[in-house]
Amino acid sequence: MPTWRNWAGSVRVHPERIVTPTSIEHLQEVVRLAPEGQRVRMVGSGHSFTPIAVTHDTLLRPGTFDEGIGIDGHSGIARIPAGMVLSDVNEHLATAGFALTNMGDITAQTMAGSISTSTHGTGLRYTGLAGQVAGFGLVTADGTHITCSATENADVFRLGRVALGAFGILTYVDMKVVPTFQLRAVEEPRRLDDVLGHFDTTVTSVDHFEFYWIPHTRWALTKTNQRTQDPPEPRSRASVWWNKTIMENYAFGAVCATGRAFPSLIPRLATALPSTGRHEFVEESHRVFATRRLVKFHEMEYSIPRERLVEAMTRIVDEVERSDLRISFPVEVRVAGADDVPLSTSYGRESAYIAVHMYKGMVYEPYFRMIERILLPLEGRPHWGKIHFQSAETLQSRYEHFDAFRAMRRQLDPSGKFLNQYVERVLGC
Ligand SMILES: Cc1cc2nc3c(=O)[nH]c(=O)nc-3n(C[C@H](O)[C@H](O)[C@H](O)COP(=O)(O)OP(=O)(O)OC[C@H]3O[C@@H](n4cnc5c(N)ncnc54)[C@H](O)[C@@H]3O)c2cc1C
Repeated sequence: MPTWRNWAGSVRVHPERIVTPTSIEHLQEVVRLAPEGQRVRMVGSGHSFTPIAVTHDTLLRPGTFDEGIGIDGHSGIARIPAGMVLSDVNEHLATAGFALTNMGDITAQTMAGSISTSTHGTGLRYTGLAGQVAGFGLVTADGTHITCSATENADVFRLGRVALGAFGILTYVDMKVVPTFQLRAVEEPRRLDDVLGHFDTTVTSVDHFEFYWIPHTRWALTKTNQRTQDPPEPRSRASVWWNKTIMENYAFGAVCATGRAFPSLIPRLATALPSTGRHEFVEESHRVFATRRLVKFHEMEYSIPRERLVEAMTRIVDEVERSDLRISFPVEVRVAGADDVPLSTSYGRESAYIAVHMYKGMVYEPYFRMIERILLPLEGRPHWGKIHFQSAETLQSRYEHFDAFRAMRRQLDPSGKFLNQYVERVLGC
């Protein structure tokens, strides 16, 4: 039986068959001819930590028909094959003089996979990726290929930009893009109290800000990216290799592995992380937003209203310090603007995101449950692609259009062809 596993290695399935559609017609046929009661799921590049993508029946892989990008420079909309990975999207767009306006911290996800779970980066003036969608193509349960936008199948479009794969199979995504731009990046360690004390003024005054609190210390690593017309001041290849590959991956991985073998050393090892120094450079946006992640981990991330971030982080720092947990991975904090995508974790509100990680092979559940207990009562919404312990019962009240989404799902897919266990758990179907 064929095997599929996700990036983190936490989800492994042996589906009855794995199909890579060679054309949209082939995809339509596979969906239409799926036997009664069989489930069909399309995976992206497996960067979700949850089993959101998988099925034991027919697992689809991004198709070989996913080739070029069509850009309408006049409207600023790029038609992107659903299964194209973001690193390729960025290269294609840059060649044509365009860029995605904001993105997360890696580019290994597919276009469809990233919007389907509400993937986001940071910056209050910008939304997550789903908020940048202008349309999409969708193969529905009976094999029909429909086009969706604000003017065509508008309800499917409005509800389906974050759909967890439950509306059908996306064939392309129309993204609103912008002319290429540079970012002036400043990366520096700062005292946590200083970062929290200035958090509201910082996130409202700069384009893209994030920080990583280093557990067991009072330090944070900060990243501030400002959009600029300044000429490039790139890092040398040697400096990128040293800081991003060696220090952020191999050296950090070695620290994590040592911490896993000797957890009592973690607080002492943590004090080495703020010594990375200050770095400033100006480079093309997508080279600044994203980095390579070679160290494997498990992750949970919650969105909360932006104004509650300081309160939330103060409690997290306090509870981690009072617990006997030993955490080698920094806690990541980002923000995003409000959007109008019903199942987006930033729907209707400016959000702050708090992400906690645990190095592979270490027990994560007590830590993640402790953080979830803090964030859930703060109107927390879990990232759909990252670990959490919630179900439809608790999620329903967090999304104004949850029932409308479910009704549309049932209308598009009455027999539940595109469901799986995870989607049933979080939607209640
Ligand atoms: C190292 C790492 C860094 C990350 N950084 C960030 C970050 O900065 N910000 C953030 O928000 N998240 C981040 N994530 C989470 C990640 O962005 C999401 O989990 C994303 O959904 C993964 O995309 P994927 O292409 O791997 O899709 P998968 O995880 O394979 O699938 C995700 C969902 O998309 C659906 N799907 C995929 N293709 C289609 C299609 N063609 N039609 C319909 N549905 C489809 C799947 O069925 C599934 O429901 C990170 C994850 C990792 C491992």
